[in-house]
Amino acid sequence: MAEYDYDIGVIGGGAGGLTVTSGAAQLGAKTLLVEKEKELGGDCLHFGCVPSKTLIKTAHVYHWMKNAEKFGLPALDLPPVDFREISKRIKSVIDTIQPHDSKERFCNLGARVEFGQPAFIDEHSIRLNGHTYSAKNWVIATGSSPVVPPIRGLDKTDYITNKEIFYLDHLPKSMIVLGGGPIGTEMAQAFCRLGTEVSVVNRAPQILAKEDADMADAVKEVLSAEGVNFYLNSSIEEVNDLGREKEVKIKTGEGSTLSLKAETVLVALGRAANTNDLGLDKIGVEYTPRGIKVDNRLKTNLKHIYAAGDINGGFQFTHAAGYEGGIVISNAIFRLPRKVDYTFLPWCTYTDPPLGSIGMNEKRAAAAGIKYTVWTEEFKDNDRSLAEGETIGKIKMLLDEKEKPIGVQIMGPHAGDLLGEWVAILNGKVKLSTLAAAIHPYPTIGEINKKVAGSYFSPKIFSEKVQKGLKFFFHLKGRACAEDACSEQ
Ligand SMILES: Cc1cc2nc3c(=O)[nH]c(=O)nc-3n(C[C@H](O)[C@H](O)[C@H](O)COP(=O)(O)OP(=O)(O)OC[C@H]3O[C@@H](n4cnc5c(N)ncnc54)[C@H](O)[C@@H]3O)c2cc1C
Repeated sequence: MAEYDYDIGVIGGGAGGLTVTSGAAQLGAKTLLVEKEKELGGDCLHFGCVPSKTLIKTAHVYHWMKNAEKFGLPALDLPPVDFREISKRIKSVIDTIQPHDSKERFCNLGARVEFGQPAFIDEHSIRLNGHTYSAKNWVIATGSSPVVPPIRGLDKTDYITNKEIFYLDHLPKSMIVLGGGPIGTEMAQAFCRLGTEVSVVNRAPQILAKEDADMADAVKEVLSAEGVNFYLNSSIEEVNDLGREKEVKIKTGEGSTLSLKAETVLVALGRAANTNDLGLDKIGVEYTPRGIKVDNRLKTNLKHIYAAGDINGGFQFTHAAGYEGGIVISNAIFRLPRKVDYTFLPWCTYTDPPLGSIGMNEKRAAAAGIKYTVWTEEFKDNDRSLAEGETIGKIKMLLDEKEKPIGVQIMGPHAGDLLGEWVAILNGKVKLSTLAAAIHPYPTIGEINKKVAGSYFSPKIFSEKVQKGLKFFFHLKGRACAEDACSEQ
């Protein structure tokens, strides 16, 4: 049997790679982790989830301060923000998390961590910093980078992406966001709230293309009301660097050409897999620009090489990368064949209010040919939402023909956290009646979950048929006041 230096080698120290490394090392596998940057943590910690959610919170607080009067407080005359201070806060949050994603921590768990740019030299070995390392199994978890499409003039323009946006030395006066996906939408609202004049250009007729149009449009309405300009159905024709200003020429859905100008252009047009310089062609690992091809056990065409996280072009979320890391451990270390199942993978776009999703929405159900009914509740009817001053939005529950829940969409306060209950219900196949009957604390925004389940049962319970039955058996006397007399009482 061939002898290798390591049981498992992991390339990429982000959410996916760190999950595999931590699990494998703690299970006693001799594990090597290779990261090309100077620190572990990947995009999520340095250029993604953590900095974006920290920035969003700062923008949220500033927005609420500007709206103090709505809460019965004195109006505030606020000075403009100093983005360097916001960046400092972002860096301090990252610094607090960094020890959790450090070489020392993973070394303590039993893994060897090396920094540098590795390349496969054969199916089991990489070359790194002048040394060769071999492993029985390999996991590629090198993540993704912002796509920069070949738009005329873009390559000669000084634009920013998620790599730069959290570390600017001042707040841009104006910004054109190219792309209406989750990153573009979250950043558009945050910067608008901080005082930047923001325009979003999107080719599709709605933002957040994966979501149902009614939910995405509701998010757009909130952002529009706060001052974000949207150019939907619009294609980007050309970008020009005019020095202190950048110009984006767009063609609108109506066919007219518009010239938008701003200090900064944010490119948020999707993600490309980090497959470069890994020597994949040399060893014959198959990939496309979207990502490394994997089967449902996350194996590449070379059965001892796995790909987990953004690199495989699937669901590009930190929790998806973590989940996939767990699948790889099962398959590569435990040798227990485990397939991925994304049926109830939740996600959330953290606008205010956020838009969260789990399972089927109307778009996905229709595309899969599933017959469904929709049950909704609005946040304006939730007592806690009223108290919090957060009444925009609704929850949408989809039931299949057998009246089983198949998905939930929430656009409203704490949508991401509200999904937690649905994660348990959908994965645990909990009956809707259990949720409807379960006692929820009052007053909480989470009561909306119980209420939407109850909305399905209410018409059945409070029906004329039930009333008639009760009247017959127990001689109930019926209404105490005539319907048309209620307003006179
Ligand atoms: C602005 C923004 C906001 C986001 N917000 C959220 C959110 O709120 N929630 C959420 O779930 N997801 C969010 N995401 C997505 C999330 O960041 C990614 O899905 C997640 O980081 C993917 O993890 P990963 O391990 O696949 O890749 P990464 O975390 O990117 O890790 C890949 C690692 O591989 C390293 N690497 C790359 N190439 C090589 C190489 N050749 N050799 C060695 N190492 C290499 C990289 O340096 C990196 O450390 C956001 C992303 C962005 C950009």
